Amino acid sequence: MKKRIAILGSTGSIGTQALQVIQAHPDYFEVELLTAQHNAALLIEQAIAFQPNAVVITNEDKYAQVKEALAPHPVKVFAGEAALASSVQMESIDLVLTALVGYSGLTPTLRAIEAGKTIALANKETLVVAGELVTALAKAKGVNIYPVDSEHSAIFQCLVGEFHNPIEKIILTASGGPFRGKKRDELLYVTKAQALKHPNWTMGAKVTIDSASLMNKGLEVIEAKWLFGLRPDQVEVIVHPQSIVHSLIQFQDSSIKAQLGLPDMRLPIQFAMTYPQRLTADFPRFDFAQYPALTFEKPDTETFRNLALAFEALHRGGNMPCVLNAANEMAVDAFLKDKVGFLAMSDVVEQCLAKMDYVASPRYDDYVETDRETRIKALELIH
Ligand code: MG
Repeated sequence: MKKRIAILGSTGSIGTQALQVIQAHPDYFEVELLTAQHNAALLIEQAIAFQPNAVVITNEDKYAQVKEALAPHPVKVFAGEAALASSVQMESIDLVLTALVGYSGLTPTLRAIEAGKTIALANKETLVVAGELVTALAKAKGVNIYPVDSEHSAIFQCLVGEFHNPIEKIILTASGGPFRGKKRDELLYVTKAQALKHPNWTMGAKVTIDSASLMNKGLEVIEAKWLFGLRPDQVEVIVHPQSIVHSLIQFQDSSIKAQLGLPDMRLPIQFAMTYPQRLTADFPRFDFAQYPALTFEKPDTETFRNLALAFEALHRGGNMPCVLNAANEMAVDAFLKDKVGFLAMSDVVEQCLAKMDYVASPRYDDYVETDRETRIKALELIH
């Protein structure tokens, strides 16, 4: 029996690498559903190559283009957010890889969990925004959420065989991004081109900017809390510029386990889609002789305030991580459009956290409302 895969966000960085993994294992996987937001041309190309049961283009203006191009193929074509949310529930899907960007991942992920689909989670914002709701629903439905984020995949790989042993703490590694070692006065005028140059990983624009500002690590701290059921004080961050140790877990007997490898997202993608199996792969191998020094240092949260703000949101709980995420999405978007400076992104997030109303036990509608209101507040701060 082949594993039947849905990829939400198939034209992005994670989506295209997932299709490489699938292509390398044609006996193991079958593509059931591919979805994209705007990139109709690549979605069409992927649909012709992989012949999924259906595709969804969320931007409805592109529907006619996709429909026409796929007319000679036995591929159903849908458009819009509602089609995305319902297509993930298709009977024929075994596993849903959520590789959407940002808040947009929340609703389709919840729908997939409702339908009992196994989740390979690349969209960390889903757990940042509504971790409590998502993990409670997954528990109620008996659904497993396997991490695709490389750090969380590392923790998950270290946990295999240890699921009954309590975790003392986990240590997430951070590369430090392109501005590691810089101080605030050196970061005032950095450009988006500089911020988009990640030293180790090739990723989408949103996560690359988040990596440069350390917000990515902040979001990952919150993601880890929910994935592994931890208290905020059980999650630590250490800067590791070589990005070889992908994260570590410390058990109650003091033993620390780490997962290592060259930075390549195809491994965590593949592991999430094949767990508990490991399939052969021709990914490049790590050579210790090439890396005489693996180094570690404390993160500089005075310069990179986003990491401290994320911890603050996590400690406050309720809808505050949702505020953090929405404010950050707006700030990153504004930075990419040259409307705010690099350091000002943290100001937007900080002020939104200070000004938005606190909701202690949010429900789905509260998250939607918090997200909407925070975006309005952030826009006021940006303009
Ligand atoms: Mg990561």
